[in-house]
Formats: sequence, structure tokens, C-alpha cells
Amino acid sequence: MLVVGGGPAGAAAALRAKQLRPEASVLLVDRDDFPRDKACGDGIAAHGRDELDLLGLPGLLDDYRPTRRLSVVSPGGVRVSATVARPNHVVPRMVFDARLVEAARERGVEVRRHRVRALTARDGLLTVDDTLTARAVVAADGAYSVVRRLLGARQTPDRHIAIAVRGYADLPDDDDAQLIAMQRAGWPAYAWAFPIGDGTANVGFGMLLRHLRATGLPGRQVLHGRLAELLPHLPARDLRAHHLPLSPGRPRAGVGRVLFAGDAASLINPLTGEGIYYALLSGRLAGEAAVTASADPLPVYRRGLRAALGRHLRTTDVLARAAQSPGFIDAAIATAARRPEVFDLLVEVGLGAGTVPVPLAAAVVSRWARTELSTAFSR
Ligand SMILES: Cc1cc2nc3c(=O)[nH]c(=O)nc-3n(C[C@H](O)[C@H](O)[C@H](O)COP(=O)(O)OP(=O)(O)OC[C@H]3O[C@@H](n4cnc5c(N)ncnc54)[C@H](O)[C@@H]3O)c2cc1C
Repeated sequence: MLVVGGGPAGAAAALRAKQLRPEASVLLVDRDDFPRDKACGDGIAAHGRDELDLLGLPGLLDDYRPTRRLSVVSPGGVRVSATVARPNHVVPRMVFDARLVEAARERGVEVRRHRVRALTARDGLLTVDDTLTARAVVAADGAYSVVRRLLGARQTPDRHIAIAVRGYADLPDDDDAQLIAMQRAGWPAYAWAFPIGDGTANVGFGMLLRHLRATGLPGRQVLHGRLAELLPHLPARDLRAHHLPLSPGRPRAGVGRVLFAGDAASLINPLTGEGIYYALLSGRLAGEAAVTASADPLPVYRRGLRAALGRHLRTTDVLARAAQSPGFIDAAIATAARRPEVFDLLVEVGLGAGTVPVPLAAAVVSRWARTELSTAFSR
């Protein structure tokens, strides 16, 4: 089995394959050596840690401080500060990804630096760059997946791509509250500050790519400018931007014996921009399918994905459309501010595999409608 890409999706695929079939030959290639940086908010939700447990790596983040404090400011300025049911971690990707790849290496995965440029299928074997052959390939090569492009698979439409910039800023060691500050202008758009626990925080700002383009201004000017505007007290360094392929634009789960995982499968949550959990989960399922059904892994992988995320993805497809209206998000956050169980549920939808029960959806829609109506009458 060949895994292209050593981010969370690729590492999870390789780790799972070796966990299930220690005798399997698993090669993981990445264009970079590890440790390597990846533009990210570095936020790892409890759901991601559940995946680490399943991969046999329960203590991987133990030396990083857990936090349960989260503040969210809605586009209309409604603020909710709450304690999340299960703690989140913030671990720089430079560290997290290198630890995953090292764990894969220790489990017997061969890790090689190699940039994939070509892929052909012949006689039941896949050949990469005329040199590497495998019965099954996991394409975990990220948002700009070369493998997905080489196979002619549907690309994520521009309307389902976000772009975000992240940096690092100093802040007091004892500040452990995660902040998400949404912005009405150019909505959906928000800034975040995620304290790491070492006197720094990961800070960033993200918005939809088409909204950025619509400004007609250089991307750097808009992204850096909005970040500074929303978090003026946290001047950022090491700014770096990257695209986020959101799940409403996801392609089919693979082609032939090539399985797409993580960002290469366009699995980022459209409501929060969270992708690490979905990368770990899809990578694990892809690794599982590749070694247990190498002659025809795609149907097994597709079934696994559907069972794990099918209802959730359909929920977020719908919510992402509703969330285009900032008033909807104001209503959802106002409801969450009054009802802790709703806050927990929103966390499950935004960071995990949660779905929304119909009565709650109805409550939020009716609050939204009331607000919209009263605004219309007061004009
Ligand atoms: C600014 C920003 C903030 C974010 N914040 C968060 C957050 O706080 N929490 C969260 O959960 N998610 C966040 N995300 C999303 C998260 O970063 C991604 O969903 C996650 O990295 C996906 O993991 P992956 O393994 O699929 O891809 P990646 O982590 O991108 O890994 C892909 C790997 O493939 C390799 N590769 C690419 N092309 C080739 C090739 N041709 N040959 C060989 N190797 C190749 C790359 O070198 C890379 O190592 C954020 C994204 C951005 C852009």
C-alpha cells in the first residue's frame, strides 16, 4: 500500500494499515521531510483525540495543556463564553504531524521523501512516477491534491473553498480561553486566537475565497488587515495562508484503487474550518479499506465514510447554506448562550460528527425569523 502525503490523513492511513496488518508493506511518501510546517489553527478537538486513541496513540498530546474554555462572538456581536464538554488541545503542526509520522515509522511504515507527479494504473497495479508500485493508494496529499487532479476527479468548486491565514502571537501563559470572533463584513469570515500554553497563541483569519476575490484587493492585504482589525491586541508573526476545501464541495471518495482522504477528499467542516479530525478519521478508514480489501477497497471505504460521517455531512451541507445569512448564526449563538446543551450540540456539529435534531433546528429558525421580521418592521 502506498500513501501519498504525511499530514494527519496520510499518517492515520499508514498507522491503521500497520495496526491491522503488521505484515503489510506500507510506504508513505511526502514531498517534505518532517518536521515541516503547515498553515493551520493547530486546534485539535476532543474528537481528534478519540481518533488518536483508535490509532493506538492515546498519549500523543499529553505534554500539551488541555483547555475547555471557549468564547464565540457572533457576526452581530452576540457573545457566548462557555466550558466545552470535552477539552481541546492546541499543538503546532510542526510538532503534531512529525509525531504522527514518527509513530508510523516506529510501527514499521517506510517513510520516504518523494514528490508525486504521475500516476498510471495497469494490470491491477498502480504505478507512481514509474518507480513506485502498489495495489492500493491513499491520496492524502492535501488541499491541492496532485493525485486527485491526475485522476481527473472533480475539483472542489471555488464557491466551496475558503482561504485562511495563520500566525503566532505572544500572550500570557495563564490565558487558556479559545476565542472565535466572527465578522459581518464579507461573512462568513472569522478570526481566532488559540492559546498554546507556552506563552504564545495561534491566531488567524479566514473567509470564503470568492468573497476575498470580490474585494478586488490583494489577498495578503485583506487577510492580514482583517486579522489585525479583529485581534488588535495580538500582533502576529510568521503569517502563512492556505486554502481550505470545504465538505459541501467534496468529490467521490476515490477512483479505482485510489482512495481520497482528508483535504484531498475535501472534508473540512464548512461551519468551522476544522479538518484535522476528518483527516484522521478518513485516513484511518482509507488505511483500513486498503489493507483489508486491497483488490477493491473503494466500496469498503465509501461504506465506512458513509457510516461515520454520512448524516453529519448532509447536516453541514444544509447548515452551510443557512449560515450564509449572518442572522442565522446570530440566532444559533443566541440560543446556545441561553441553553448549554445547545452549545454542546453546536460543538459536536462544528468539530465532530454531530447532527442537529429537528426541534432544535426549528427553534433556531424561528428565532432567526423573529429577528429578521422585527428588523424589517423597524426599518
Ligand atoms: C489557516 C488554516 C487554519 C486551520 N485551522 C484548523 C484548526 O485549528 N483545526 C483543524 O482541525 N483544522 C484546521 N484547518 C484545516 C487543517 O489544516 C486541514 O484540514 C488538515 O491539515 C488536513 O490534513 P491532511 O492530512 O488532509 O492534509 P495536509 O495536512 O495538508 O497534508 C498533506 C501532505 O501532503 C504532502 N503533499 C502534497 N503534495 C504532494 C505530492 N505531490 N507528493 C508528495 N506529498 C505531497 C504535503 O507536503 C503534506 O505534508 C486549518 C486550515 C488552514 C488553512
